[in-house]
Amino acid sequence: MDVDYEDDALEEGARPAGRRMKGRGGEEDDRYAGKAGKFERLDDDDAWGLSRDANGQSRRSCIRHNRMFPWRHVLRVACLAALSASAGLASVAFNTQGRLQRGKAPTTATAKASCLVPVYQGMSLLQQVGDHMEPVLLTAPLPGGEAPVWLGRGEGDLRELQEKLGVDPMDGFWMLDLSPLPSAPSAAVLGVSSSARWAKLRDRRAVPAPLDLLAPDCAALLALANGMAQWHRGVRFCAKCGGPTEAHRGGLNRRCSACGSRFRPRVDPAMIVLVTRGERCLLGRKAVWPPGRFSALSGFVELGESLEECVVREVREESGVAVDAASIRFVASQPWLFPRSLLLGFTAQAENERIEVDQEEMEDVRWFEASYLRAALADKDAADGFNIPSKTSLAHRLITGWLKDVEQQR
Ligand SMILES: [Zn+2]
Repeated sequence: MDVDYEDDALEEGARPAGRRMKGRGGEEDDRYAGKAGKFERLDDDDAWGLSRDANGQSRRSCIRHNRMFPWRHVLRVACLAALSASAGLASVAFNTQGRLQRGKAPTTATAKASCLVPVYQGMSLLQQVGDHMEPVLLTAPLPGGEAPVWLGRGEGDLRELQEKLGVDPMDGFWMLDLSPLPSAPSAAVLGVSSSARWAKLRDRRAVPAPLDLLAPDCAALLALANGMAQWHRGVRFCAKCGGPTEAHRGGLNRRCSACGSRFRPRVDPAMIVLVTRGERCLLGRKAVWPPGRFSALSGFVELGESLEECVVREVREESGVAVDAASIRFVASQPWLFPRSLLLGFTAQAENERIEVDQEEMEDVRWFEASYLRAALADKDAADGFNIPSKTSLAHRLITGWLKDVEQQR
């Protein structure tokens, strides 16, 4: 079972079918993407999101945001870059780098849900501010609506949002699920700016996509709010006795009102791995992905399986290639709340090169030379349509990190 992060895009009918490419197996010809045929070109805005992997916030949005507040953000970005380098962390999307402190939800006596992140059936409330987008927050719940759910206290961009709204950052952020309403409430009903609009965070039909215009912390906050809303809606009844459940501890879990069983949000671990052999790496594509898109192989962890076992199994299933289990190295992780996955990124070395593609899961899997990838990433025209997920994806981090390693080892 592979991981397909384009599933929701498919539901939206947003993606054209990919092109089936000739050439399979570990033959010499398959090692060079340039021989795969002509690809269609993709713009940067489209070149994100590959395997059910790590996609997200465009780096351009940070740059745009920085223009608004140059010095402070320049300093913060510099500090984050230093932190990322020292901690070995990538600026992958939906990761607040610790700038959303969740902790325990405030007790009922002290809870003040004065800063609400509204959600309506998978959509977030956004508004254009200058050349970027910001979440639109509410300062009071709607009468008769769902109880707010604790998200945490924010720093950086998140704290700025609250200060602009005039609320105490110590009150934290709360998710307000408006999904039970028969239609998405208008800006007038909510008492917010008329420029506010409901949008799917990952709606790539919109140009530019909302996600590309949000500051990274804001994108992460909205993704968390959507993930929590989806979880709460899916656990309204007890799995043990069928009784109704209710939000408990600020919505961090739910409790059955009949038998008292508690239910906490679960995450589905999934792995993505860049398999290498010398100066070649193994990339694959699914037919539903954008034309020319290749990424590292990925898959969900199965019950009773270790991450290492998952890496070996998924690579074997999708490509037929055997992985040296002792060579598996963890690189970084990325939350992927569409709806509730945690993506764990690895590198591993192959024991053989022969490819046998699982036609049900992958359209194509092939070996790519580091020199080809380097040239393709540096020059779109040279790439002939070949592309990998965006810079903020875990897949991108794995591939470009390996290219640097190859370069340094020369
Ligand atoms: Zn129960």
